[in-house]
Amino acid sequence: MSLPHIDHFINGQLSRSESGRSQDVFNPATGSPTAKVSLASVAEVNAAVAAASAAAPAWAETAPLKRARVLFKFKELIEQNHDALAKAITLEHGKVFSDAKGEVTRGLEIVEFATGIPQLLKTQFTDNIGGGIDNWNLRQPLGVTAGITPFNFPVMVPLWMAPVAIATGNTFVLKPSERDPSPSLMLAELFKRAGLPDGVFNVVQGDKVAVDALLEHPEVQAVSFVGSTPIAEYIYRKSTERAGTFPLRAQALGGAKNHLVVMPDANLDQAVDALIGAAYGSAGERCMAISVAVAVGSVADKLVEALIPRVKALKVKNGMEDDAEMGPLVTGAHKAKVEGYIQSGVDAGAKLLVDGRGLKVPGHENGFFIGGTLFDNVTTDMKIYQEEIFGPVLCVVRVPDFAEAVKLINAHEYGNGVSLFTADGNTAHEFSRRIQVGMVGINVPIPVPMAWHSFGGWKRSLFGDTHAYGEEGVRFYTRYKSIMQRWSATIGKGAEFTMPVAK
Ligand code: NAD
Repeated sequence: MSLPHIDHFINGQLSRSESGRSQDVFNPATGSPTAKVSLASVAEVNAAVAAASAAAPAWAETAPLKRARVLFKFKELIEQNHDALAKAITLEHGKVFSDAKGEVTRGLEIVEFATGIPQLLKTQFTDNIGGGIDNWNLRQPLGVTAGITPFNFPVMVPLWMAPVAIATGNTFVLKPSERDPSPSLMLAELFKRAGLPDGVFNVVQGDKVAVDALLEHPEVQAVSFVGSTPIAEYIYRKSTERAGTFPLRAQALGGAKNHLVVMPDANLDQAVDALIGAAYGSAGERCMAISVAVAVGSVADKLVEALIPRVKALKVKNGMEDDAEMGPLVTGAHKAKVEGYIQSGVDAGAKLLVDGRGLKVPGHENGFFIGGTLFDNVTTDMKIYQEEIFGPVLCVVRVPDFAEAVKLINAHEYGNGVSLFTADGNTAHEFSRRIQVGMVGINVPIPVPMAWHSFGGWKRSLFGDTHAYGEEGVRFYTRYKSIMQRWSATIGKGAEFTMPVAK
């Protein structure tokens, strides 16, 4: 049986790839290939950039209010197609349908933020800043921008970028993950139906060839990347070192190892609920998943005892089933990688309390499933502590006190998200201030900032200066210009050779 092809969307229409390169896309719950995704050639990337470039001047000249109106319509269409988008996510990513719906909602919120663009583009003005001179600022679009996105949020992460880029007057080329490419084409279709002019939003399917072609293209002005740390670092370096014209503006969000600290005074039931949801939701394939529980002092034994039955009871199923709590991993290769990490934890001497390997889901024997896995007595020298596993594996690390918990987290190479469960306001206050992490939750397991507050980690979780979406996103996608203006009646006579100062 020949599989359907997933292709590009260039200049307002589907565009069949002629690169001759493609790869299989799977339904992770069954383990069967469902489609082939085309992998773009350099010429195909160039065609997408050419379309975005041709559309850029008119779109930049379109009034912000008119751009916002397209986004209002786009928001309505996402709402109408909420279930269809979520289903497309589940069928290629594997996460449970209710979680996929949540993903769409979090993306939708960025669209809602971006509809406020006329207000967001207002800048500063100083009347008569010096001798008849007024000084004000503009935030102008950059031109063609690009987004390179990971498999784990095939709707939400493109929506972290494109609505803000487009609202600010740029055009956009999306290179989605080749592992779950279908939702990107649905977004393209909805943008078109919302009235977005052709060429403003384009999709090229592909791999490293497409990514490199985007980064090397002299007309691409900015790139937003979200994915693993080695690739984020590569993207950032390559962008900022771009030869020829000028460096490519880049923000590259990378991987994570997120800790959740449980203090002895924490509400244990709440902390356990938080850990179960944050560690095993989406099978741990979230950059904000909690993968380390830091048990402080006397809470450790009680915490571990409460976690074991909950991990064993997780309902691991096809994500389309109503009562599924956790679906499969995205591919067979990723499943094997996570199983390798579990073995490395065993070999390093961590105590494996619940082993999710070998799980067979009835009727889905070839699906890429791993059950919830729990380790205790994990130490900082172990690979399972140091590296991002990106699977349903929670490591418990025991520390004697609060100071050791803070020290442990601050020493980690990643600094994406962190959480603290406590009943003490002062502990929470100190933690928020001292912790070297970009996004902090206090009695909140997954502190993903809302659309109006920007998203980004510290240390090796983000390369670049600006965080994603929110006002930081508006800054990233615009160039700041300062204008000083004076009219002839106030202009003094004669050349001035000293530094101009206010008169
Ligand atoms: P990935 O780094 O493998 O892929 C991300 C993108 O980069 C994809 O579009 C892929 O095609 C492209 N890519 C892959 N290899 C490349 C190469 N050698 N050269 C150029 N481009 C390449 O990431 P993934 O597995 O799709 O996603 C999971 C990772 O993303 C995890 O590490 C997770 O923590 C991270 N992530 C981070 C955030 C965040 O906000 N910090 C959010 C979501 C996911």
